[in-house]
Amino acid sequence: MKSSKFYVVTSLVGVVLLLQSCSESNDTNSNAESSTEMTESDNENQNSEETGDSNHEEGSDDNLENDILDDSNILKLVNKKYSLSEDYIPEDLVNLEVPTVLENAEVNQLSKEAADALKEMIDYAKEENIDILARSGYRSYKTQVQLFDNYVANHGEEAANQFSARPGESEHQTGLSIDVTSESVSYQLSESFGETIEGVWIKENAHKFGFIIRYPEGKEEIAGYQYEPWHLRYIGNDMAQNIYESGLTYEEYLVERGIDIEI
Ligand SMILES: [Zn+2]
Repeated sequence: MKSSKFYVVTSLVGVVLLLQSCSESNDTNSNAESSTEMTESDNENQNSEETGDSNHEEGSDDNLENDILDDSNILKLVNKKYSLSEDYIPEDLVNLEVPTVLENAEVNQLSKEAADALKEMIDYAKEENIDILARSGYRSYKTQVQLFDNYVANHGEEAANQFSARPGESEHQTGLSIDVTSESVSYQLSESFGETIEGVWIKENAHKFGFIIRYPEGKEEIAGYQYEPWHLRYIGNDMAQNIYESGLTYEEYLVERGIDIEI
């Protein structure tokens, strides 16, 4: 059963997290020029207000099973096995009201609920003298196509698959994912961010604002991407808290909840 494997992996993670090294990952691809705003996998959006997270948590697992397959649901699962439709665009994208890095207007947007949560988190961090900036938020399907084609042209398809998401497989299309950075890593998306005071703060506090670190260290095979200490996914306070406490990836957490997903 898959679960036994998860237990082993999970038990190792605690140790691994403490060690923290550095690698790099799919959001980033340091060199490609498109890398600035690019790569990576996800997207999503929408913040169904009527279905607040708490409802999801308290709802039956039947609801959860449906929610994770609904493009516009805050719990939508997006990875290499579960993609978003080509025509999915969040209905409530808003411009970020936090410090940003890029000029690109598209990436400086998030679904409203996620944008509000991000502002709350960054403002709170600021009060503790932790300066966090938003680097890349929403990414349309069309942009994903351009980025992926560009990456394939420059690095080949095999490398592209490893470091960049295929169109529809980026969680950023949801409007619920945001890449954050700091001056200490020159405003880039670097694995070393996880070791900075800003990155450590994010790791310890993001869940309090409804975010999870979607691609944790040591979970590459399950999450489908290398460690990305900068990539946050808004998923609502209750779910974020549960996932944080479980020490699991979102995929593992769903399996533990009895949801039958392909991994
Ligand atoms: Zn990202």
